[in-house]
Amino acid sequence: MQVFNTIADLQATLKGLRAKGDKIAFVPTMGGLHQGHLSLVEQANQHADNVIVSIFVNPTQFGENEDFEQYPNTLKEDLKQLEALQVAGVFIPDAQQMYPDGFSTNIKAGHLAEGLCGEKRPGHFDGVVQVVHRLFEIISPDIAIFGQKDYQQLLVIKQMVNEYSLPINIISADIVREADGLAMSTRNQYLSAKERTEAANLYRILVQLKQDVLSNKAIDSAILNAKQSLAKHFKVDYLSVLDANTLSATSDNTTQIAILCAVFLGSTRLIDNIIFYPKQNT
Ligand code: AMP
Repeated sequence: MQVFNTIADLQATLKGLRAKGDKIAFVPTMGGLHQGHLSLVEQANQHADNVIVSIFVNPTQFGENEDFEQYPNTLKEDLKQLEALQVAGVFIPDAQQMYPDGFSTNIKAGHLAEGLCGEKRPGHFDGVVQVVHRLFEIISPDIAIFGQKDYQQLLVIKQMVNEYSLPINIISADIVREADGLAMSTRNQYLSAKERTEAANLYRILVQLKQDVLSNKAIDSAILNAKQSLAKHFKVDYLSVLDANTLSATSDNTTQIAILCAVFLGSTRLIDNIIFYPKQNT
């Protein structure tokens, strides 16, 4: 496994791989790797000859009072885990490589970035599409894998790829959860032992909400119930039930439903979602 700190070194190696006709899959991350990230790498391995993983904590996607400064760095351990999965290369640029002096871009997130996390974290998705577009430009992968854990991000990236007609196949990977249902996240490291136990209530309440929706309970009152349950454990940032393709209100044309939620537990922000098929009224 090669570790690259510069675009030039990475591109020289990629050129050699492409000359052999190799297919390249790309997994962007911010490090602090856990089994969720590794599942993306495993999936990437199935789709391509070579997997490139990036580790870059992108400053432009963090708000002013967010955790950019303290974002977990577990680089040594990350590299060991990636090596074990036979990753071809890990790209670890610094901010100067990613955003050289004078760097500017017109890339902006599309309308799918407007609500939910986009509304609660202004500018976040613009930062995400800028860094992902820049990484795509540098690497030109055939395939890129994103986790369903960040469901709105996944849709925003797909929208960006469509809008700019990038020849990159975006593949979505299922959410990897802890035994008690908590979606794995680098930010779970911030939780105290007591908070970590409490955190399992998030997925439990979302599963209950899904059951309520499937049993044809009125959506508004099901959401209200779920919000009341969440409020016993968390400060609710948002909870929505939407059409999973458009992130707008569900309708008769909805083929998949998304329950999307963000909560605070102490100062830690947790997000989670469930995507499912509506009950068929036959
Ligand atoms: P991050 O390092 O948080 O930027 O995440 C990098 C990628 O890993 C993103 O595509 C995330 O959606 C994905 N990811 C993070 N946590 C999980 C998880 N628990 N299950 C599946 N994918 C995940």
